[in-house]
Amino acid sequence: MDLPPQRSAGLARLQEFLPHAAAYARTRNEDRGPEDRSNVSLLSPYLRHRLLSEAEVCAAVLARFPHARVEKFVQEVVWRTYWKGWLEMRPQVWADYLDARDRDARDWEDHDSYRRALDGETGIGCFDAWVAELRRHHYLHNHARMWFASIWIFTLRLPWTLGADLFLRELYDGDAASNTLGWRWVAGLQTPGKHYLARAENIRRYTRGRFHPADQLVEDAPTPSGVERPARTDLPLPPAPPPLAGNPRRGLLLTTDDLGLGRLLAHGAAEAPWTAVAGARPEEREEGSRVPEVAAVREYRRQALADALPASGPATDHLGPARPEDAVAWAQRARLEEIWLPYAPVGPTAPGVAGIREALREAGYRVVPFCRQWDRLLWPHARAGFFRFRQSIEPLLDEAIATEEEAFAAAP
Ligand SMILES: Cc1cc2nc3c(=O)[nH]c(=O)nc-3n(C[C@H](O)[C@H](O)[C@H](O)COP(=O)(O)OP(=O)(O)OC[C@H]3O[C@@H](n4cnc5c(N)ncnc54)[C@H](O)[C@@H]3O)c2cc1C
Repeated sequence: MDLPPQRSAGLARLQEFLPHAAAYARTRNEDRGPEDRSNVSLLSPYLRHRLLSEAEVCAAVLARFPHARVEKFVQEVVWRTYWKGWLEMRPQVWADYLDARDRDARDWEDHDSYRRALDGETGIGCFDAWVAELRRHHYLHNHARMWFASIWIFTLRLPWTLGADLFLRELYDGDAASNTLGWRWVAGLQTPGKHYLARAENIRRYTRGRFHPADQLVEDAPTPSGVERPARTDLPLPPAPPPLAGNPRRGLLLTTDDLGLGRLLAHGAAEAPWTAVAGARPEEREEGSRVPEVAAVREYRRQALADALPASGPATDHLGPARPEDAVAWAQRARLEEIWLPYAPVGPTAPGVAGIREALREAGYRVVPFCRQWDRLLWPHARAGFFRFRQSIEPLLDEAIATEEEAFAAAP
C-alpha cells in the first residue's frame, strides 16, 4: 500500500480503481487487509488535500459507467462533502471537540488502559493489528475505522475524543469533518438514537476470517441519551473565484486544505495569472494542537504541498508553518499588489489563515478571499441528515462537476 503524496500518483490510483468502481457497492465492506485494497479506491489522502478534486473523481467514474452502476461510489465521495458542509454550519462542534480532547488528554494521561490502546497492547487481536496498521500505513479501511472506534468507545471504555485525536494525527487523510463526525456517529452523538456496535461475527465475515474476536467485545450498550442537536449557523462563505481581471502583481497562497486551486484557477489562462505562489501549513503552529505531530504525516503534507506548487512560471515559496509576518514578508519580497486567499474550512488550518488574512490587510495588501464552486453549491444543503442532503444535491451534481471537471479534464 503506497500512497505517494503527488497528484500523478493520485491519478494513477484513480485509473487503477476505475475498472472496480462498478463492483464497489457489492464489495466495499470487505476489509481484505493492506495486501489487497482493490475493492476500495484509496483516494482519501488525495481527496483530503484536493490533489484530486471530488468533481474530477466523480466525472471519471461517471464517464466509465452509467450512473446507476456507480451510484454508491459517488454517494461515498459526497459523504465527504456532506460532512464538510455540516461542520461548516456548526463550528461549535469542532470547538467543543478540541476542548473535550484537551481535558480528556489531561485526565487520561496516566491511565494504563489508554496507554495500552495507543500501543496496540489490549489483547484484542484485531484492534491491536489495526493500531499497528494505522501507524505503519497511516490508513485504515472504512469498516475497520468503524470497528476500531466502536471497540475504543464501548469495549475499552475510552473517551471518543482521544480516539479521534489518534486518527487525526495518524491518518494521511485525517480531516476535521470526516474524522470528528465519523467518531461522533459511532459514539451515538451525531444521529440521536443511533450508535454503532462492532460485532465479532461481522468482523469475522468482513475480514474474510482474518480476525474473530469472539467473546471479547461489548456487543450490547445503550444508546447515549440526552444528545442535543447542535445549533446551526449561517454559512459564511466568500464568493466563487472572480474572473482574473487586469494584470496586477498577483499572489496565491495555498494551504493543505486545497492543493488543487493553483491548477484550477490557472487553467485556460494564456500565461500564469500569478506573479508568485506560496504554500503554507499554519496548522503546524496551532497553539495547544497536537495535529499533525506525527513525523510521517507532517512530511506527507509537506511533500503534497511541494507537489502543488507550479514547476515553472511564477516564483514559488514554501512558507512552512507560516506565521502572519512570514506571509507579509513573502508578499513584500514578491512585490505583490493582490493576494488570493482560499477559504479555510473549520479545522486546524482556519485560525492560522485568519491571522494571515488580517496581517496582509493591515500591511495594505488587497486580499481576495474566495471559495471553490463545488463547496459553494453543495455545502449549504448539509442542513439536516445525509439522506436529505443527497436528495437535494442530486439536481446540482452535474453542474457542480461541470464547473470544475472542465478545467481539470485537460490537466496532466
Ligand atoms: C471513525 C471514522 C473516522 C474517519 N476519519 C476520516 C478522516 O479523517 N478522513 C477521511 O477522509 N475519511 C474518514 N472516514 C471516512 C472513511 O472511512 C474514509 O474516507 C475511507 O475509508 C477512505 O478510504 P478510501 O479512499 O479507500 O474510500 P472509498 O471507499 O474508496 O471512498 C471514496 C471516497 O469517498 C469518501 N468517503 C468514503 N466514505 C466516507 C465516509 N464515511 N465519510 C466521509 N467520506 C467518505 C472519501 O473521500 C473516500 O476517499 C472516517 C470514518 C470513520 C468511521
